[in-house]
Amino acid sequence: MIHTQRPRPFHLNFAFALVLAILAGGCTAPSGDKVYQYAPFHALAAGHFDGDLAVSQLKHHDYIGLGTFNRLDGEMIVLDEVYQIRSDGQAVVAGDSLRTPFSEVTRLRLPAKRTFDSPMSLPELQRALEALAGDDRGSILACRIDGVFASIRVRSVRAQDQPYPTLAEAVKQQKVYECRQIRGTIVAFRFPTTIGNMNVQGWHMHFIDADRKVGGHVLDVQPQSVHAAVQKCSVLELTLPPRDLTATSAPAAGHAAGPE
Ligand SMILES: [Zn+2]
Repeated sequence: MIHTQRPRPFHLNFAFALVLAILAGGCTAPSGDKVYQYAPFHALAAGHFDGDLAVSQLKHHDYIGLGTFNRLDGEMIVLDEVYQIRSDGQAVVAGDSLRTPFSEVTRLRLPAKRTFDSPMSLPELQRALEALAGDDRGSILACRIDGVFASIRVRSVRAQDQPYPTLAEAVKQQKVYECRQIRGTIVAFRFPTTIGNMNVQGWHMHFIDADRKVGGHVLDVQPQSVHAAVQKCSVLELTLPPRDLTATSAPAAGHAAGPE
């Protein structure tokens, strides 16, 4: 589905939207490059795996994003369409009736772009992206990387049952897959430490191959020949779920997990 209007993915159904302006380096006005996030990450980490946002609301033209699905049923990557990477590593188009307990999307409006034609490690890639963005360590970075990857190691997770474990416990059952010489796309976000536990501090990357058949949460990657587009985002719009996150059977603590 292609939407041509200005993207407002969460506004219609959820009244409790907070706008957090991350004003790095002084009192500069927000640039308007905004990340839309559904639910605080610490809730997911604590085992709140049921959300109320239909994934159909994430589908907007030119949107990129990542997240997960209710019951932690696989990894999500948004590239115009919303894809679900199941626990077997296979990608499918997510049905509109699926819901998400945690997700984030944005549009790369005027990203910095660069081609990288020599193999590099994941830390080298991350540093290159930060340099390309003119990183100030205080902004959110949103990134899309298309091309050929010499190797990539990804994981996915399987749906959980009530009572939900913490995310740290759930990902102990993750399935890991490795591919070599594969063409595809990575969607990535880098959040500053300023964000605390509202999102994942540091880099968080999801991958899907060019045929949209396989993918997952990136554990390691070696780009070979890729085109990268990265954008600094100064505004985070956080939509809170319309439910009491303390009223479920989920454990209240233990959220020192890796990202979903
Ligand atoms: Zn992830």
